[in-house]
Amino acid sequence: MATDYDAPRKSEEDLSEDSIEELKSRRADIGSNDVDEDENEAAESFELPGADLSKEELTVLVVPPQEDEFTCTSCFLVQHTSQMSENSDPSAPICIDCAG
Ligand SMILES: [Zn+2]
Repeated sequence: MATDYDAPRKSEEDLSEDSIEELKSRRADIGSNDVDEDENEAAESFELPGADLSKEELTVLVVPPQEDEFTCTSCFLVQHTSQMSENSDPSAPICIDCAG
């Protein structure tokens, strides 16, 4: 009984010591892996819309406002003149959304 009782305790202690050291090394590995995976996932999920957004932003920057468009002086979005607030100052047009 005593031998049986000691045996698992020793192995448990050994296991715990081993597991602690393993955990330390694994924690570093897992931690770095998690960070890498998170960064990869974040980069992947962020890259796709980010690339699309940058392309769209480039398109918006390259294409000047058309004659039937104006740049809202409040939100600086290029809006169709139909979205211009009727009460806005022609020299400082604002969109209906910003006019409230
Ligand atoms: Zn606006």
